[in-house]
Amino acid sequence: MQTPLQNARILIADDTPYNLKVLAAVLSQQNYHLILANNGFETLKLAVTETPDLILLDIMMPGMDGIEACQHLKQDPNTWDIPIIFLTAKSEDDDIIRGLELGAADYITKPFNPKILLARVRTHLSLRQKTKELQEFAHKDGLTLIANRRRFDHFLETEWKRCLRTQSPLSLVMVDIDFFKNYNDTYGHLQGDEILKLTAKTLEKVVKNTPYLVARYGGEEFAIVLSNTPLESAIGIAAKAHFEIANLNIAHKNSKLKKLTASFGIATVIPSEQTTSKDLINTADTRLFKAKENGRNCIKVFDV
Ligand code: GH3
Ligand code: MG
Ligand code: MG
Repeated sequence: MQTPLQNARILIADDTPYNLKVLAAVLSQQNYHLILANNGFETLKLAVTETPDLILLDIMMPGMDGIEACQHLKQDPNTWDIPIIFLTAKSEDDDIIRGLELGAADYITKPFNPKILLARVRTHLSLRQKTKELQEFAHKDGLTLIANRRRFDHFLETEWKRCLRTQSPLSLVMVDIDFFKNYNDTYGHLQGDEILKLTAKTLEKVVKNTPYLVARYGGEEFAIVLSNTPLESAIGIAAKAHFEIANLNIAHKNSKLKKLTASFGIATVIPSEQTTSKDLINTADTRLFKAKENGRNCIKVFDV
C-alpha cells in the first residue's frame, strides 16, 4: 500500500533556523511528516534512516553544501531515487543547473511563494508515488502477487554480489509442482490458477524473513533465494515447504499420492569471481530435474 500524499515524509535541510521554521510552518498546513536537518552531513544521515519521500535542500550551507549533498544522495543506492527540490537564492543559476544535471527534480527560489512551494511539493510527491506504484507493478507476478522473474533476477544478482563481498553462503531452492499439467487437465485451468496462488502463499508463509525472496520463476515453478544461508538451513526450509504443500491436502486424483505435491532442488555456494549466479541456478535446476527423475515429491541436494 502506498502512503497517502498527506502522510508523506519530507526532509527539509537548511542551515538557517528561521528558514526551517518558515518552511515547516508552510508544509505543516498539509499534515506532512517533517524531518529537519541543519547541514549536509545530517541530511545524508537522515535520508537513509528516515526514508523521506522528498527532500527540500538548501544550496548554501557550511561544511557540505546542497550540491555536494545532492551528489552523495544520487550516488547512494539507498537514496538515489528520492526526489530533491533545491531551495536557492536567485543568484545561484550555475549551481541550479549543476544540481539539475546531478539529478535534482526541481528548484524553488527564495524568498518563495508558499502556494507555489506547496503546489510543487505536491507535484513531486505525486510523481514519486506513481513511480513507486509502477516499480511495484513491474516486480510482481500478476497471478500470485509474489515477486516475478524480473524481481528474482535482480534480487539474486544483488545477493550474489553481497555474498561475494562478505564470503557468505547463498542458497537457492527451486520448487516445481508435480503433475501440474495433469492437474489442469483434470480440474481445469482456473482451478490450476488457484493452486498456484495457494502454493505461492504457502511458500511465503514458510519463508518470512526479509533477506529472503520467494518468486514465481515461471509457469508452475517457484524459486526461493536464501541469502547468508548455509546448505543445512536451506534444507530445513525446503523440508518445511515440502511438508506444508503436501499438508494442504489438495486432491489430485491422477497423481501418485492422490494429492498435490512438489519437488525441490537445492544448491548452495559461497560466490567467487570464477562463478556466476547462473551456475547456482543451473545446479539447483539440475537437482530439481533429478528429484523429478527419482519419482517426484522429494528434495534433491546433490547431483545424483
Ligand atoms: P512435472 O511433475 O514433471 O513437473 O510435470 P508437470 O505436468 O507439472 O510439468 P509440465 O512442465 O509438463 O507442465 C507444466 C504445466 O503448468 C503446463 C502448464 O499449462 C501449466 N501452467 C503454467 N503456467 C500456468 C498458469 O499460470 N496457470 C495454470 N493453471 N497452469 C499453468
Ligand atoms: Mg511440474
Ligand atoms: Mg515445470
